Amino acid sequence: MNHGVSALLNLPDIDLPAAAVQLRSEVREFLTAERAKGTFIPHCDAWHTGFDPAFSAALGERGWLGISWPTKYGGHQRSVLERFVVTEELLAAGAPVAAHWVSDRQSGPGFLRFGTEEQRQRFLPGMAAGEIYFALGISEPEAGSDLSSLVTRARRADGGWILNGTKTWTSHAHQCHFITVLCRTSQSQDDRHAGFSQLIVDLTSPGVIVRPIRILDNSHHFNEVMFDNVFVPDDLLLGEEGAGWSQISAELALERSGPERFMSNFPLLEELVAAVAAAPTPQGVQAVGELVADFIALRRMSLTIATAIEAGENPSIPAALVKDTGTRFEQRVPEVTRAVFSPVQRAQNPSLAARYEEAVLLNPGGKFRGGTNEVLRGIVAKGLGL
Ligand SMILES: Cc1cc2nc3c(=O)[nH]c(=O)nc-3n(C[C@H](O)[C@H](O)[C@H](O)COP(=O)(O)OP(=O)(O)OC[C@H]3O[C@@H](n4cnc5c(N)ncnc54)[C@H](O)[C@@H]3O)c2cc1C
Repeated sequence: MNHGVSALLNLPDIDLPAAAVQLRSEVREFLTAERAKGTFIPHCDAWHTGFDPAFSAALGERGWLGISWPTKYGGHQRSVLERFVVTEELLAAGAPVAAHWVSDRQSGPGFLRFGTEEQRQRFLPGMAAGEIYFALGISEPEAGSDLSSLVTRARRADGGWILNGTKTWTSHAHQCHFITVLCRTSQSQDDRHAGFSQLIVDLTSPGVIVRPIRILDNSHHFNEVMFDNVFVPDDLLLGEEGAGWSQISAELALERSGPERFMSNFPLLEELVAAVAAAPTPQGVQAVGELVADFIALRRMSLTIATAIEAGENPSIPAALVKDTGTRFEQRVPEVTRAVFSPVQRAQNPSLAARYEEAVLLNPGGKFRGGTNEVLRGIVAKGLGL
């Protein structure tokens, strides 16, 4: 491992290629037209809460999902920077992209890296079309940060595996088609990270029970998912038996470094900047200037990590930094809104008030999903050799 602060400086510098710049204007034009048609209005955290299969399929039809995947699997063989630009535009617009988000961001790349040829052919084209959605079965009631203590277990059976256990906080399991489940397939006394595997489970299989977990406003995004003697055929083992830990670690770098880690509240940031521009005060101008400066720095970092991943590196430490600093930045957006505009002023600006309320409701989850910030700081400290 590369220790020391200098390890964080190894990321290459980047200029967006002309194709990405051109693509940005195409995506922006599409999103403006969709908003004008009333297909969606911008929401904070819409990459997590805005589950809209028709919208995902429309993006798939335009070739904006699975962008960097090989064409033989339904992808478009474009650069990771083009994917970054599409992602950024969708987040900036607060578009309803939750249906395909996990598949496009990490399940698809996981299948490309670890899946069999048969699995790639079976799942990737549907993901790239925005029609097949995957959930993530990682966290358990007694195993969140310390995943090595998870107890969901699969035992060998004729032609496959029998899966038993419970996953929790499983986003959109009630709306997805499949779930990748991290489970124990053997136990080692010496190495607590050994003996994990990933299984692909059809969420309609007999023995799968999905129960809603509702949040404060009664909305339903995540679930408890129980597996009661679920049969999983051999051909749905993802990657190698026993290699689940390293496979999931590679996935988590993708999960932690993307622009969704600092752009969940972008629709509120836009409203805030517009409101300050309409009624500037020294406090408002200062606060917005600071936010935007931090946003630009985070964006640069996320972009360089995207390039490093494309080059085959596993930048887990910088990815952890983006997630930690990014989600803290996101939290400041509603805090600044509250400090700059009184409740009466917010009430006079309904779209600012609506985005502010969404951000306040959904913000706390940002520090947890994808690994808690405290745990990520531990990863960074370890990477620095502390
Ligand atoms: C919106 C949202 C969506 C999610 N979607 C999914 C999903 O689709 N699939 C899925 O599998 N999971 C999902 N999760 C779960 C998420 O990954 C877990 O919440 C997270 O990993 C933390 O686990 P936990 O909730 O068990 O908290 P715990 O691990 O119990 O942590 C509780 C507190 O203790 C602190 N803590 C724990 N260990 C340490 C340590 N070693 N050092 C310092 N502090 C520590 C944590 O930082 C935290 O503040 C989602 C969560 C949210 C909020």
